[in-house]
Amino acid sequence: MQHRLIWFRDDLRIDDNAAVTAALTGEPEARVSAVFLTADAEWAGFGYGRNRLYYTECLLRALSQRLAEHGISLQVVRLSTYAAQVQWLIAYCQNEHVTDLYLNQEYQVNERQRDIALSSALTATHVHQFLDRLVLQPGQVLTGEGRYYAVFTPFKRRWIETLKHEHCGPYALPKTQRARVEASDWEPLAASSESDLSDFAMTEADAHHCVEEFIEHRLLNYNSHRNNPAIPGTSRLSPYLARGLLSPRQCIKAAERALNKPIWDFPDNAFAWVNELIWREFYHHLLVGFPRLSKGRAFKPETEAVAWRNQADEIQAWEEGRTGIPIVDAGMRELRATGWMHNRVRMIVAQFLTKNLLVDWRIGERHFMRYLIDSDLAANNGGWQWSASTGTDAAPYFRVFNPVSQSEAHDAEAAYIGHWIPELLDLPAKKRHAPWLTQIPKGYSPPIVDLKTSRQRAIDTYKDLSQ
Ligand SMILES: Cc1cc2nc3c(=O)[nH]c(=O)nc-3n(C[C@H](O)[C@H](O)[C@H](O)COP(=O)(O)OP(=O)(O)OC[C@H]3O[C@@H](n4cnc5c(N)ncnc54)[C@H](O)[C@@H]3O)c2cc1C
Repeated sequence: MQHRLIWFRDDLRIDDNAAVTAALTGEPEARVSAVFLTADAEWAGFGYGRNRLYYTECLLRALSQRLAEHGISLQVVRLSTYAAQVQWLIAYCQNEHVTDLYLNQEYQVNERQRDIALSSALTATHVHQFLDRLVLQPGQVLTGEGRYYAVFTPFKRRWIETLKHEHCGPYALPKTQRARVEASDWEPLAASSESDLSDFAMTEADAHHCVEEFIEHRLLNYNSHRNNPAIPGTSRLSPYLARGLLSPRQCIKAAERALNKPIWDFPDNAFAWVNELIWREFYHHLLVGFPRLSKGRAFKPETEAVAWRNQADEIQAWEEGRTGIPIVDAGMRELRATGWMHNRVRMIVAQFLTKNLLVDWRIGERHFMRYLIDSDLAANNGGWQWSASTGTDAAPYFRVFNPVSQSEAHDAEAAYIGHWIPELLDLPAKKRHAPWLTQIPKGYSPPIVDLKTSRQRAIDTYKDLSQ
């Protein structure tokens, strides 16, 4: 009899899951089991924080229930490294006579090396690997010379052209006759989170509801509202895509169904949202094309020579939302309180850290890794290197965001600032963007840096690199 094992990673759902569908297809008599393996020490080294681990834990509990209804028991095994995962799987497959192992691909260097090592070690078990985290396979969208794109716009054009000739799911879950089993138990990955995660979906059904709600009410205004952090103008689906509670295929198909046309025919406002999903693909493809990105290295090697200042007191003020620049502090407080931050504000706080304070982008990247519930190496590294002008297709180094103008443009009524910085609520809204120009209210700090001189210092520092 066949024994099929599904190895879950950041793909914590059963609907439209390529590995799950394949494992449940054909052979109704086959034994099917499922496993999730931690790599506690390795993940601590990557900076994964309690928010991510606790959220993963919650999703695993929900997944375990759903799998049990389909007659599949999920084991969650606490291990310390990827090498230990490989050893555990080799032993398990041997002892339990696993004939087939089903898994969805991951694209970071360590994870890819682990999967290669496992495939060559498992001689009696057939390993089936699937494209699932992304819509198109890294390596499928290449330049005319067969290289990975380093610039987004041509990547996007080719990505869309390629998609026109692809079937992109979703995968239907086969009907199975397996009797319900008891859900298993395990030692939790984390007992609690650092932030209040109660606003996020914890089940596939809730995540689907979020997609439908976004598509029905906000997709057609996405481009007009996406930069305002005071309103829910974006989808807020990133935690679900990051942990695999939803697939990008499901998002695209739901939007196509609602608009009754393929994405390339979407009106501009709605296409702008698909554009973000393509950025997500782009950053993942880059991880495969340029493995140094997974190793904490800059895409542009010359930027390794930036003379970062890395002042500990300034870094701490940034982390704690006490820089005295309201839009920066609001974002950093939102991150701590909720484990999430609006994209426009992520860009503002990242530019402030790397440009105005001249702090190494890797320090910011790690802080985001600790708190973000949607933490994801590809998008986080991409976002930080974009902001720090060290990455591919990054913000030009001389175009430093002015956080006050950004705040005035995107949070015009200062509602976002007011929400996160109650100390400023007594000021008229228009004065909240730069309180030092009138009067800094009691309890709020003066700016830790002068925006004008620090901007010039950043430009001079970067300019030196190109000489
Ligand atoms: C410094 C910095 C760090 C970031 N770190 C992460 C991270 O760790 N994890 C993460 O998922 N995103 C990260 N982003 C990208 C982006 O900020 C979030 O994906 C977005 O804010 C999520 O909100 P949303 O779901 O409402 O997005 P929407 O605007 O609704 O976009 C839809 C989806 O597209 C993807 N997406 C959107 N913008 C981007 C982008 N710029 N790059 C890649 N994918 C994108 C997300 O999966 C998102 O859910 C980072 C951006 C910056 C500037």
